[in-house]
Parts: sequence; structure tokens; C-alpha cells
Amino acid sequence: MFKINENYQKLPGSYLFSGIAKKVSAFTQANPDREVIRLGIGDVTQPLVPTVIEAMHRAVDEMGKAETFHGYAPDLGYEFLRNAIAANDYAARGCNIAPDEIFVSDGAKSDSANIQEIFGADNKIAVCDPVYPVYVDSNVMSGRTGVYNTETETWSDVIYMPCTMENGFVPEFPKETPDMIYLCLPNNPTGTTITKAQLQEWVDYANKVGAVIIYDGAYEAYISEEDVAHSIYECQGARTCAIELKSFSKNAGFTGVRLGYAVVPKELKCGEVSLHGMWARRHGTKFNGAPYIVQRAGEATYSPQGKAELKEQVAYYMKNASVIKEGLKDAGYTVFGGVNAPYIWLKTPEQMTSWEFFDYLLEQANVVGTPGSGFGPSGEGYFRLTAFGSYENTLTAIERIKKL
Ligand SMILES: *Cc1c(COP(=O)(O)O)cnc(C)c1O
Repeated sequence: MFKINENYQKLPGSYLFSGIAKKVSAFTQANPDREVIRLGIGDVTQPLVPTVIEAMHRAVDEMGKAETFHGYAPDLGYEFLRNAIAANDYAARGCNIAPDEIFVSDGAKSDSANIQEIFGADNKIAVCDPVYPVYVDSNVMSGRTGVYNTETETWSDVIYMPCTMENGFVPEFPKETPDMIYLCLPNNPTGTTITKAQLQEWVDYANKVGAVIIYDGAYEAYISEEDVAHSIYECQGARTCAIELKSFSKNAGFTGVRLGYAVVPKELKCGEVSLHGMWARRHGTKFNGAPYIVQRAGEATYSPQGKAELKEQVAYYMKNASVIKEGLKDAGYTVFGGVNAPYIWLKTPEQMTSWEFFDYLLEQANVVGTPGSGFGPSGEGYFRLTAFGSYENTLTAIERIKKL
């Protein structure tokens, strides 16, 4: 008789967004005349920019001719894309990252879930609280998190670093020393970030205690402030302690196209063992490459025209962010984020719990957001709205909230 991976049985409840979807569908069935505006899930709504579409069309045509057809991609990804990434995302920012330290993938969700595989089962992970659920859940699946406490909604073997109003959403060094530290900056869900100087302190800390930082930079394109690092490799010493994960989903609208990459510097070692070699082995064995057409699309995001079009797209979403942020402030809410990230994180009014505010907003304003408690216990009493809707819907949603 086969046996299952019992760790899956430990996963609590349903994934946050399926819970929300159920509530929204019950509401729309009961109120078919109401127009519900969704500012909940972090998916983009604007179409791919023309330069990307043209590159994809060209690549499709190439695939239709024997002379230019492409089969399996090279293990690390095509050189044309890795060179563009190294030049634009790293060299241009003074970071020393070679093209062969870049592993092209199908997105940052899978990379952030898979990366734990190359680490020992007894490593202790540290995560910000609230946090993108993938980091903890992927470690639950591989048995690294201990026992779940339904009361505190925490795992016994996970170190939580609360990020709240009280500490300005800046994680503090934990009392217990972690082995693996997940940082997502700018942050989903809080929409906040830390300065380059603060990130440098984390790099110094990781090097000192011998921890590895898994740095999720999915929202890098939304950074607007000068003193915020665009890559962890802007910090001294990051090459010996950090893996950086990037995605084309949020800067270029590739959520349905699928493309990302991981950077594993060659100096990142455990004793004599290079993590670069391990990730290369893992990648080569378990992944057969992002599609040629998609890698050409990724390359196009780095062309001068592509960059200009994407800058406009990011600006479109950030205009929404400012509509939400200013509108909520006018309505008396305490709000965070929305400056270096497309998320607004608000304090729920009148001591409402996150889910009470979810119901209130859905029923009274017909607006869907995400309860902060779904991202971790320290998210209780907060609520996330995304700037990824259309401008028109965003305006309408905020007008409705203001009238409550
Ligand atoms: C959206 C998002 C990603 C990107 O995931 P993809 O798989 O590349 O679409 C990664 N990390 C965080 C925190 C995100 O919010």
C-alpha cells in the first residue's frame, strides 16, 4: 500500500485566495445586481506591451521554420536573455553578477517554493510576519516546520519576524539564530520596504551568523525612492550569503506568460560545497526550461522601447496606488505602502478583525480586498488592497469606500 507525504496533511485550511473566492461567489450569487470590484488577488490587468507582443510574434514565426526552430532550451536559459539580465538588472546598477550565475525559470513562485530543496531538513527558516504564504507552505511540505499551533497560527520550528506599524514594517534580527532567511522587498503584502542601509545590515547579519538570505525581488520595478536597493547584490558581501529571485510577472505583466530567474552567486558556499552547483544540478534534473518564445519576450523587456513601455505600465499601476492611498487617507484610514510597491496596507478601523473588515467592505462597498490575517498572525487588524485593477475600477472602488 502506498503512503502519502504526511507533511501535506499538516497544511492548515485552504489557501487564502480560495477562501476569498468562495465568499465572493456566495455574495454575487445572493446579490446578482451588484457590481463587485476586485482589488484582492495580486494579478495584473493591463495587456502585454507592444514591444513584447512583437517579439513573441517573431519568435512564433521562427518556431514555424526548420532553420529557426528551437527545441529544448539550454539548462540555464538562453544566453541572449541571461546577458540582457546581467547587463540591465545587475551591471547597470554596479552589481557584479555573471550571466552564468542566472538561472532562467518559469517564475518566482516556483523558484521560491523549490529553492528549499537544496537545504538540509534541519535548517531553521525565518520569515517576516505577515508573509507571502509560499515560503512557509513549501517548507511545511518538506517537513521543515514542526507542529502547527491553531491558536497562534504559527509553526513550532519557524522563526517569525513581526512587521507591524510599531516597527515601521522593518523586520528585526530574531533572538534565535536562523539558517535560512526569507526577505521579500518591496514587500507583498504590506507594500512597504526597507532602505539600502537597512538591507546592508541584514546582509552583514547573515554573513556573521552563517545564514542564507532568499531574497524575493518580484516588486523591484515599483521602487520609486532613491535609498532603496534594486538588488540585494548592491549590498557589500551579498555574494556570499544571498540568492535573489526575480519575476517578469509584476513589471511586465507576465503572470500568464510565465518567466522569472534565480541568481545563485558562485561564492555562496556551505563549507566547500557551492550552492550554484547544487541549483544547477536541481534545475537540470527537474526543469526543462522556459519556452523560447517567452524568453524572447523577456529579452524584449530590456530593449529601450520595451523599457519605456513598461515604465508607463508601472506608472499606470502606481497612479492607482496613489488614488487608493490618498483616497483612504481622506476617508480617515491609516495607510501604508503604495510608494515602492503596488500594494496598500491599511489598518482596519474600529478594532475590526481583518475578516470582519473583508465582509464589511464586500457587503457595503462591494469591493474585494485581502484580509491581512491570511498572511500571518501579525497581519491581523490589517487589510491589503492592490493597485493592479483598472484605473476606472480603482476610482469607483475608492469613491464607494469614501461614502461608507
Ligand atoms: C507575484 C509574486 C511573485 C511572482 O510570482 P511568479 O511565479 O513569477 O508569477 C513572487 N513573489 C511574490 C511575493 C509575489 O507577490
